[in-house]
Amino acid sequence: WLFEEVPTATLSPPKVTIMEGDNVQLTCTTAGVPSPELIWDMSLFTNYTSGQISVLRLSNLSSSDHNSRISCIAENIVGDRESSLLLNILFPPKITKLSDAISDHHWCIPFSVSGNPQPELQWYRNDVEVTEGQYIMTMIHDITEREYHGCLQLDSPTHINNGRYRLVAKNRYGTDRKEVDAHFMVEPWGKGDVLTLSILRELNWLAEMLVNILNSPISSPTLSLTGPSSVISNDDDSASPLHHVSNGSNTPSSSEMGPDAVIIGMTNIPVIENPQYFRIIQHIMRHNIVLKRELGEGAFGKVFLAECYNLSPDQEKILVAVKTLKEASENARKDFHREAELLTNLQHEHIVTFYGVCVESDPLIMVFEYMKHGDLNKFLRAHGPDAVLMAKGQTTRPVELTQSQMLHIAQQIASGMVYLASQHFVHCDLATRNCLVGENLLVKIGDFGMSRDVYSTDYYRVGGHTMLPIRWMPPESIMYRKFTTESDIWSLGVVLWEIFTYGKQPWYQLSNNEVSECITQGRVLQRPRTCPKEVYDLMLGCWQRVPHMRLNIKEIHSLLLHLAKASPVYLDILG
Ligand code: AMP
Repeated sequence: WLFEEVPTATLSPPKVTIMEGDNVQLTCTTAGVPSPELIWDMSLFTNYTSGQISVLRLSNLSSSDHNSRISCIAENIVGDRESSLLLNILFPPKITKLSDAISDHHWCIPFSVSGNPQPELQWYRNDVEVTEGQYIMTMIHDITEREYHGCLQLDSPTHINNGRYRLVAKNRYGTDRKEVDAHFMVEPWGKGDVLTLSILRELNWLAEMLVNILNSPISSPTLSLTGPSSVISNDDDSASPLHHVSNGSNTPSSSEMGPDAVIIGMTNIPVIENPQYFRIIQHIMRHNIVLKRELGEGAFGKVFLAECYNLSPDQEKILVAVKTLKEASENARKDFHREAELLTNLQHEHIVTFYGVCVESDPLIMVFEYMKHGDLNKFLRAHGPDAVLMAKGQTTRPVELTQSQMLHIAQQIASGMVYLASQHFVHCDLATRNCLVGENLLVKIGDFGMSRDVYSTDYYRVGGHTMLPIRWMPPESIMYRKFTTESDIWSLGVVLWEIFTYGKQPWYQLSNNEVSECITQGRVLQRPRTCPKEVYDLMLGCWQRVPHMRLNIKEIHSLLLHLAKASPVYLDILG
């Protein structure tokens, strides 16, 4: 050859989108010196020809050919070049699997569906359309070349969710449907005895309530319902001013035989319902909110210090922190409302007080009590040895936190966690950045998943948008995304470590990948220099690999309370 030339291959048409059952003709043109060999390469066969142009006829294409790759390769002594396409075959939906409900972290009715374009899915229970929401939703876990695999996920379903579930999959080429019976729980009472149980989500609630009633001095055969506080009782949470909600406009009806009661035998017993349904979100008028200055920025938007008028009957105005929702997409609005609903129903002296929302116009606003010293992580750093050193020579020097102050902080967070666990609430993101500090070292858990932007280096991005606080997560959360009360306990151990290191980032010396490896291999954080042995033992109790071997939250709280009360001289500082 006088000269050599790299071969080229060109497929025409460059894209193929056709209906199932149709035929298609592909042409491949090659060039190059010496004249290249032309090779068709498909998943099922390879075909060699020596011409410069070759035509491939594919007939009666089926859905199983969807996403198959077809390549035409030109190859000579200089090298090879390839031109390829993916077959895009349009076909109606087919439900290839719909199985019995299984229980893992949530309940799941597993299904697999194929179809192109992606079918829309609608569920029916006993012929009634299922409205999806926070507790029932379709989740797609895996997408293969032709199929979507997922679950109808049910969060703590009860007997009222039992029934015949029909899945209907639809796209513009057709519809498929399949049914399965799902049985989650036995109906606990004979039909005649149940007045309204539609919002009783877990039998646990009832069991817990019975225990509380038996222990409660107000136990009587004609109890009426005045709010969860009347039955959760016995806790120190009664100190919260908002906790004893009167039977006013923001609680549901509560007549003795009203819809909130269940009759068992002769006793009329109030039902502890899912607290999320209990109190109604307070709405605050925009003209009652006067912004003063910016406090910070979270994932939802900016946080401002503001004055709020007419919030409390004995004060004309009070200082509040308002969180604004910057981008009001449909999803962001949903998150906003879910968060507000949740916060309305979490009331405890160590949970930041939520006053209500203002949704008259954009931006949407959430109103919280103002915590003067901001987030605990910043506070710890501002009262650590580095801050003290940096401020040398200045007139107002910060003072380093003492050990008993650290224990006081830890004890308050544990108290908030005792309450959350009693509400069956899994926080999933307990960390000092999500706690707030007020006057007199009052500490409250102050954030429920809204702070991920500011401390983005504390989170590990997996896939597109999921950010995980892996440095605070136990092995089972890292490996299986399993979040439970026990995984919160692990995080509480990490919070203790943060407190005793004046706000250091856990595993600060390691990258996210290294942290993930380290935790799953069973390594735990080292004892901070200023941490007493008793407290480190507590941390180790939180970091047991097997979740149920971890200390329980009540034990942790009472140990911390005990240590906080004890004079620091009794603590074994040197170990
Ligand atoms: P967040 O959106 O909750 O992450 O808040 C962002 C920042 O605003 C926090 O790091 C705090 O410094 C500040 N902040 C949030 N809530 C309050 C509050 N209730 N009182 C005082 N400062 C707050």
